[in-house]
This record gives sequence, C-alpha cells and structure tokens, in this order.
Amino acid sequence: DLKRVNRALLSVSDKTGLIDFARALVERGVSLVSTGGTRKALADAGLPVLDVSEVTGFPEMMDGRVKTLHPKVHGGLLAVRANPEHQAAMLAHGIEAIDLLVVSLYPFEATVAKGASYDDCIENIDIGGPAMIRAAAKNHADVAVVVEPSDYAAVLADLAGNDGATTLTLRKRLAQKAYARTAAYDAAISNWFAATLCETAPAFRALGGVLAEPMRYGENPHQAAAFYRTPENRFGVATARQLQGKQLSYNNINDTDAAFECVAEFDPARTAAVVIVKHANPCGVAEGETLVEAYEKALACDPVSAFGGIVALNRTLDAEAAKKIVEIFTEVIIAPAATDDAAAIVAAKKNLRLLVTGGLPDPRAPGLMLRTVAGGFLAQGRDNAVVDDMELKVVTRRAPSAQELADLTFAFRVAKHVKSNAIVYAKGGATVGIGAGQMSRVDSSRIAAWKAAEAAKAAGLAHSLAKGSVVASDAFFPFADGLLAAAEAGATAVIQPGGSMRDDEVIKAADEAGLAMVFTGHRHFRH
Ligand code: 5GP
Repeated sequence: DLKRVNRALLSVSDKTGLIDFARALVERGVSLVSTGGTRKALADAGLPVLDVSEVTGFPEMMDGRVKTLHPKVHGGLLAVRANPEHQAAMLAHGIEAIDLLVVSLYPFEATVAKGASYDDCIENIDIGGPAMIRAAAKNHADVAVVVEPSDYAAVLADLAGNDGATTLTLRKRLAQKAYARTAAYDAAISNWFAATLCETAPAFRALGGVLAEPMRYGENPHQAAAFYRTPENRFGVATARQLQGKQLSYNNINDTDAAFECVAEFDPARTAAVVIVKHANPCGVAEGETLVEAYEKALACDPVSAFGGIVALNRTLDAEAAKKIVEIFTEVIIAPAATDDAAAIVAAKKNLRLLVTGGLPDPRAPGLMLRTVAGGFLAQGRDNAVVDDMELKVVTRRAPSAQELADLTFAFRVAKHVKSNAIVYAKGGATVGIGAGQMSRVDSSRIAAWKAAEAAKAAGLAHSLAKGSVVASDAFFPFADGLLAAAEAGATAVIQPGGSMRDDEVIKAADEAGLAMVFTGHRHFRH
C-alpha cells in the first residue's frame, strides 16, 4: 500500500503554504515540476524545480489555456505502475511517473463573487487543473493528489511516518476530496451559466448586482429568477449564513427580508422581539422579556396564519425559543445568531432553514428600493423613518396613558411593515389584529377587528383580543368610519399620521367616542 514519492507536479493558483511544503518535499529528495507562476515562486525561494514545458517539449500557450494537457503529464499521472504494458509505453515515449499532484484551481468562484466581467469569468475556468486532478485521483493506487493547502500537513505527516511514501488510506481520502472539488467546481460554473442565461441577469448586472445564487424559479414556477447581492453590506437575508435546511425559494427570501427588517425596528438592548411573516406581511409581532415570551405573544395574534411562516428574532436564538418555534411548521428562522443548543434543536427539523446574520440592519440607514414598471423602473430611498424620532401630537381631549402610548408607538412601528392599507391593533407589546393590503382603509379596520375576535374565539376567550387595545393606521383616516370601527372593536387609543382634509371631523368623532389620539406627521405607505 505504500507508494514512494519521487516526483511531484505542483500547479497552484492559491500559493498559500506552497514554499514550506515544497521545501519539505525537496528535503525528502522529491524532484519538482511546475507550471509558470508556481515554478517562478519556487525558483524565487531557491528551490530546484523543472518547468513543465521542459517535460512536455511545448511552451505554455494560448493565455495558459494549454500548459499541462500533454501525454507526458497525463501518462505520468495515469500509468499503472504494476502494469507491464503501461511500463513499456512509458519507456517507449519517455514518460516519467508523477507520484504526487498538487493543484489548486483557477479561482472561478472568487472571480464570480467579485462581480467580474463575463470574459474574465470564462478565462477563470480551469481546464488542465481538473483534468490532472481527475487523472491523479483515478490512479490513487499509485498517486496522491492534493487540491487545497490545508492538506499539505497530512501529506508531510504521511511521508514522515512512512519513510517518504504515502499510504493507500491517505491517497483514497485525498482522491475522494479531489472529486468533490472538481464536482463543486463544475457545479459553480454551471450555476453561473444558468444565471447568465436567466432573463433577469442583464438588468441586475447593470445595477451592479453580483449573483448570489440562481433560483429554480420566481414567485411562480413559470418565472425565471436569480438572487443578487449588491455592494450594500447590510445585515440581512442576502448576507446571512444558512446553518441548515433546504435552499431558500424566491418567496422565502422575500418574506424573510420583510420579517427581519421589521424585527430590526426593535432595539435588542431594550426588549426581545419576534416577528412572524406570511406573504410578506406580519401576522404576529410581539415584544417580551425573553424571546420565547415574545414568540408566544406573536403567535397568539394569528396562529392559523403563522403555520408555514417565517420567524425573525432580534436577539440570539436560544434553546427555549427554538423549542417553542419548532412545535409548529415553520419555513425559516432568521436571527442575528443562534446558541449551539438552539441550533441543535432546530437541526431535528431537517427542512427548516436557520439563517444567522451577525447583526441587525439599522432601520434608520438610507438605501435604495427598486420596482420595475412597463418600460422602466422606479427608484426611491428606503422608508427609514422611525416613530421614536417623530414628534407625536395629542389631538384629542384625552391624552393616552403611559401604557397606551407604549402600545401606540409599538403599533405604528409594526404598521410601517404591513402592506397598505395597514391597520394594526396592539395590546401589551403585541399585535392582536392586523388588517393588511386592502383597497379601503375601513375594510382593513374591519378585517383587523374580525381577526382579533376570531383569535380570541379560538383561544376560548370571552372578549375579542382588541378589547382595551390601541390601533395604528399607516396613513390618515379619510373619514371617521374607520376610526369608529376601531372604537367599536374595543380600541381605546389611536395613532395615525393625520393630515386629512377632514381631520377636524375625525378628531371630533374620537373625542365623542372617548378615544385618545396622536398624530405622527409621517405616513408609512408600503405597496
Ligand atoms: P501557475 O500559477 O503555476 O502559472 O498556474 C497554476 C494554475 O494553472 C493552476 O490553477 C492549475 O490548475 C492551472 N493549470 C495547470 N495546467 C493547466 C492547463 O493546461 N490549462 C489550464 N487552463 N489551466 C492549467
């Protein structure tokens, strides 16, 4: 099983650790052959090395596309040493055996990741490298193959322990790694091609987007899609690390973004917070002493919709919260971080994706939002207005109590992340009814109130969850009807931008209903 290493071919793009490794080989009496750049690095370090063109009798040519693709190289890698016919062929054609192959491939993945041009990406497809790697790995009975610098130490240890020879165990392990590397390399190339073929590619390349991953499809299976990263380096779904679970879909990514942007509105130093999102709208948002408390409160708002939802947390996912979250079917969990215990609990649900971001995005940060329209696109700054920075004006005879005021700002913070028309009922730091995406504000009010009543019924409570709540509206109430619907549902206080022609009428109605109302002066349309 032991095979002596007499001759090594080194051809590496990543030159990390190369010199020390090569010097150790030379000290063991191994002779070295190398391609241009690698040969130069070795010669500069004073090591004896033969240029591969002296072996092949051909210069490197065509911008390096052809360097090692030659029978003198491939014969040396593929010849079965114990086979007399192979031996005879080597002798007849002057082929010398190569016992150790060290290759790191052209950095195709890194070239794509830095947003290089099409031609640059193509030129970084390594041809000779994978050919040699596959040849050497096939012939692992005689040849050892190394595809990354982190394996240099293992090879040197093997040689030291076996008087300059490698063991079959090591050669097999290295061969397995070699094929994994060429498979991953070809997959990266194929994915990149898929993305360049995708109909979304030209537009997003033009915007400076770098392909993060091609997707199987978009919002619907007949729509092409790809996920791009921009130079904007915010904490979020595009920069998150996926710890487990299957690939995210287009809709997952969109919903996860909505959930995480919403939860980032809650300062983790002040409170734990949880957002559950379905179809890009929150169906439950809550604060709490702990994440598990916040999750349970968020879930209680609309447990039916939460099924198959996206859960975003503003603090490190802990074991207690993880245990509770995995009790129902959830698509994605996103958090700044996760404890090992929490990750282990989530790991029991193989398909559930767990994303960690390293931090929360700043809700006050500027940024660019894009939307296409037929024949063009719209661009606008992010809605980075935060209720804490707004000058709240009490417009009714009754001012809100401290508890009402806390719930009012909570509700308005959430309303920013609900599609218009948005109506949010909240109580005790939790949403209790959310009306989203209706064409009339009064419909959103009715839906929110109805959902609060339904959730209460499902929980076996005597009154609607909206009783004693407050209500937020993302834009002004154009008429008193929406506001009166909220009062009827049990709300005691209202937060809204104000600014309607009929503000006087609306304020009068609020006073008559005994409501406290504050104006923010800012609206949060989200279409
Ligand atoms: P060097 O820096 O030594 O000039 O080049 C090393 C790189 O060339 C390695 O990444 C290796 O995989 C690659 N390589 C070796 N032989 C060939 C070849 O025949 N064609 C191409 N395209 N790349 C090769």
